Amino acid sequence: MDYQHIIDNISKEILSTSSRGEVASYIPELSNVSPDKFGIHLTTLSGNDFSYGDNLDRFSIQSISKVLTLTLAFKLKGTSMWTRLGVEPSGNPFNSLVQLEYENGIPRNPLINSGALVISDILITELENPKKDFLEFVRSISGNSSISYNQKIAESENKHGHRNAALVNLMKSFENINNNVDEVLDFYYHQCSLEMNCKELAHIFLLYANRGISPYTGKELISASKAKRINAIMQTCGFYDQSGDFTFKVGLPGKSGVGGGIGAVNPGVYSIAVWSPPLNKKGNSVRGINFLEQLTTDTQSSIF
Ligand code: GLU
Repeated sequence: MDYQHIIDNISKEILSTSSRGEVASYIPELSNVSPDKFGIHLTTLSGNDFSYGDNLDRFSIQSISKVLTLTLAFKLKGTSMWTRLGVEPSGNPFNSLVQLEYENGIPRNPLINSGALVISDILITELENPKKDFLEFVRSISGNSSISYNQKIAESENKHGHRNAALVNLMKSFENINNNVDEVLDFYYHQCSLEMNCKELAHIFLLYANRGISPYTGKELISASKAKRINAIMQTCGFYDQSGDFTFKVGLPGKSGVGGGIGAVNPGVYSIAVWSPPLNKKGNSVRGINFLEQLTTDTQSSIF
């Protein structure tokens, strides 16, 4: 498969059309990013890399980090954690409060904000030094010790994160948060502020294409069964209330973030990261989704 030729052609086509989206501004620090940034990195299990554009610029991975905290929590807690959150698509915006009220403080899934906040609470209980230990886990998957949090972004979100504060407090009132509310929010904002480039993100996501085994060290990072379940959750819940549409158009397990990134995998074949900051109304990268739709069409690599 001539991935490079296909990636070049689709990228040029996408860049010649307007993005028709808006860079996220509800976290003020995020609005400083150029809307013209565009990066692609695809890496295969057979060890080949293909890229385009700004694939080596680091960006804020935001909610893509929810896959990584889910991975660590699932590894540490196993199936017992599913009493505190579900695995159903929410059909609601990422920061919605309504459903949580009538479902008694049990989030629909770990890839919406309420679910990720419960996962943060689990990790705070499980880890000795949560922010440091989680960062080390991410660095160990990537084999890259320079991956880090962006303090400015974490602080910017903390100042404006009134909805996330409302979500944790609501869940605390239902006794589904065990730790201090401010500590949960602080951990969550730090995980969201992680910065990576498309190459680093694609390399991390390759573990989900490889049944939980690091393709670089051969070490099992999570069991094949857990990797399968995480892919299933990405497939059904990775794009908030656009998850069905993403499955329909692209047909790969994946996760978006409001920094404009998307990580996706074709199990057994490749992982890919795309980055383009302008978002649609659902909080997903416009050009990112358009690119992936064309990629799985041209390479016939949708899992369906
Ligand atoms: N940190 C963002 C928030 O909680 C993450 C949202 C996202 O990337 O979709 O609002």
